[in-house]
Amino acid sequence: MSVRVNFLGAAGTVTGSKFLFSSTTSNILVDCGMFQGIKELRLKNWEKFPIQPAEIEAVVITHAHLDHCGYLPRLVKSGFKGKIYMTPWTRDLVQVILLDSAKIQMEDAEYAAKKGYSKHKNPLPLYDTNDVLRTLDLIKEVKFSTRTQITSDTFFTFHPAGHILGAAFVDLEIESKRVLISGDLGRGNHPLLRDPEVIPDATFDAILIESTYGDESHTEPDGSFERVINQTIKRGGSVLIPAFAVDRTEIILMELKRLLEQQLIESVPIFVDSPMALQALEFYRGALKEKSWEINPMIQADAEDIFSAGNLTQLQSVEESKSLNQQRHPCIIISASGMATGGRVVHHLARMLPDPKNSVILTGYQAVGTRGRSLLDGTKKLKMFGQEIEVNSQVELVDYFSVHADRDELISWLEGARQRPKVVFAIHGDEDTSETFASLLREKGFNAYAPALEEVLEL
Ligand SMILES: [Zn+2]
Repeated sequence: MSVRVNFLGAAGTVTGSKFLFSSTTSNILVDCGMFQGIKELRLKNWEKFPIQPAEIEAVVITHAHLDHCGYLPRLVKSGFKGKIYMTPWTRDLVQVILLDSAKIQMEDAEYAAKKGYSKHKNPLPLYDTNDVLRTLDLIKEVKFSTRTQITSDTFFTFHPAGHILGAAFVDLEIESKRVLISGDLGRGNHPLLRDPEVIPDATFDAILIESTYGDESHTEPDGSFERVINQTIKRGGSVLIPAFAVDRTEIILMELKRLLEQQLIESVPIFVDSPMALQALEFYRGALKEKSWEINPMIQADAEDIFSAGNLTQLQSVEESKSLNQQRHPCIIISASGMATGGRVVHHLARMLPDPKNSVILTGYQAVGTRGRSLLDGTKKLKMFGQEIEVNSQVELVDYFSVHADRDELISWLEGARQRPKVVFAIHGDEDTSETFASLLREKGFNAYAPALEEVLEL
């Protein structure tokens, strides 16, 4: 009797989370994310899956971010027919994210065909809307703290991770082994969500813990967000905030509302320009309205809109989005995607970057190979729509909006466990980061290891 884990993604890298657990009778996949960032990684999305997807009994999804669920339609397209388990809010968000992803895949394939730059005669999308619809049919909602059987020898339980709405860490019991998979772990100070739960009191054969920020500490809020906004408005420029559509937009809107109410920034129009972010915003409003168990019980949002101080405009259509081109007065634009890999934010960047009056505030992790990372690294030219765009605007990183635990927060979560796990695997980080984090854990007395991509280990 042995259980093996194959680190099919988010090992030695941040994206593509996929962990395949195999016992004598079952194959269970935890997370089914898409690889993003550099080409070498993105090409992995096209490789043949290492086992027949039809041989996988079930998939368990920790949360709705694309790098944790974005490969699902491809798995279904390749023959997976089992159930896909996730929490109720994750299901709502996954639907929005996968439909958007299919649209981007289809547009990219069409564009490649038109421009003829693909080496294939008929460039195909990774998946299309139909694959997404078939995927959605397989989803089964499971509430938090509900031990659920998936096969004769496999059970799992979701626990709140405090990362985004619906996000869970997973307690997986497979054959004689018990494993904890952190998914993405929040910081315990999310302005809306409940804190991550403590590790259940059990002897885990392994804990797979994310290490996105395994080698650094987040800065404390130091006023740099409002400082950049004020500087920009003063010189007559506008602020562009590329933000992840789910959760980051909500947190930034709440912070802007606070700053306005405390008169720490001037009242200028605020625009959210991302259909996906707006859909997610409605789910967050829904969770608040129904007083969802996931919402921090300290939050009281009965009458007012906690996301707007009255100057918020939600831009749905392309025409509304284009109207921002005519905006002559300072404003704040929040648009997706957060790493500027696609979406309407790319149009705004192309328009706003050449003007030194404007500023771009990056608010989260920027993967290697993305436009956001190039901006962060101080590039003076950025390629967009086949053109070189000059970067003259101010570019700043404000990292205290992160919804990922940092080094010390990850360690204290692990140390909060009543019983030490037999082994800790540092996953979901750049190679050096996960290595550094694993050695930090070893200094703390954990048996820790950073597995390589596609490494197979026995538990
Ligand atoms: Zn995430």
